[in-house]
Amino acid sequence: MTITINSKHPNERGTCPAEYSFGETFSDHMFMQQYTPDKCWHNQEIYPYQPLSLDPSAAVLHYSQEIFEGLKAYRNVNDSINLFRPQENIKRFNRSAKRMVMPEVDEALHLEALKSLVYLDQDWVPHQKGSSLYIRPTMIATSAKLGLGASMNYSHYIIAGPAGSYFKGGLVPISVFVADEYRRAVKGGVGEAKTGGNYAASLFASEEVIKLGYSQVLWLDAVEGKYIEEVGAMNICFVYENAHIVTPELSGSILPGITRDSILKLAPALGYEVSEQRLDIDVILADIASGKITEVFGCGTAAVISPVGKLGFKGKEYVINNNETGDVATKLYDNLTGIQYGTCEDKFGWVESI
Ligand SMILES: *Cc1c(COP(=O)(O)O)cnc(C)c1O
Repeated sequence: MTITINSKHPNERGTCPAEYSFGETFSDHMFMQQYTPDKCWHNQEIYPYQPLSLDPSAAVLHYSQEIFEGLKAYRNVNDSINLFRPQENIKRFNRSAKRMVMPEVDEALHLEALKSLVYLDQDWVPHQKGSSLYIRPTMIATSAKLGLGASMNYSHYIIAGPAGSYFKGGLVPISVFVADEYRRAVKGGVGEAKTGGNYAASLFASEEVIKLGYSQVLWLDAVEGKYIEEVGAMNICFVYENAHIVTPELSGSILPGITRDSILKLAPALGYEVSEQRLDIDVILADIASGKITEVFGCGTAAVISPVGKLGFKGKEYVINNNETGDVATKLYDNLTGIQYGTCEDKFGWVESI
């Protein structure tokens, strides 16, 4: 398979504007390939970013047969460009595809598509510290049919856009509300897949907590409403006595984050103990109140590490580490971003240069 490139700027490269807002500004080009049962994946092409043409009855618009990924390209200190563990995103994309009854994508082709798009749009990878080019691989069901059942046809495309530093003034703690009434995903459902419906299902509660002055929702398990799952688009970690990092074990309804996995591998090398456990919200809140838990932070590609300064639950507020960013969060943030931007040694072989 070869990817045809139809560049918008055959003799010169387009550039990233000085001002942009995350998720609303996109680079010059996009990758696209189509799937039909007879030809499988075909028409691999990179062409100028443009609207899609879809039948109004396209399956994705009615029954949400859709998956996506999120990863970033980082401008290295020596001006080359790095991807961080892209193979993990590619594998997770195929796991999500399988769960949503969508065709898998050849891993090598997917990587080539990511690299070719970023290479072509390399001037869109911002230079400012902490900024990056956010990349969004997506697959949608395109068959024009309202009858239920998996679609026959699919589009797989990749778009990208510049992302500024998530934290303009350094790491600033966020406040998180523990959902008491609403649930995100249930074991046996699609919580493990990166699929749009999970976000649609969480929007109502997200809007409610913003009205209460919190920025994100912490989800509990949907069976007992007792065990901690994850936060918005991040996994969550608790730090005991500044030394032991604990995160919920993958339950079947939690999205297995690549940042989470990276922390589980990196933290022991930095001298921390790590464990994955089933975490009871009442125990966690008691341990915050008694001071045994010294830090809480979310982790995901967008923010990397996001310290949590306050947890609200059933009318009570629990303050963590004086609502300040702790040493463990800072150290993990510095080391992970150091690997991504090429200022720390890449001991795990996580970086893929373009
Ligand atoms: C993408 C995502 C995460 C974080 O995953 P990373 O691979 O670390 O970016 C966590 N939770 C949900 C629901 C997500 O969609």
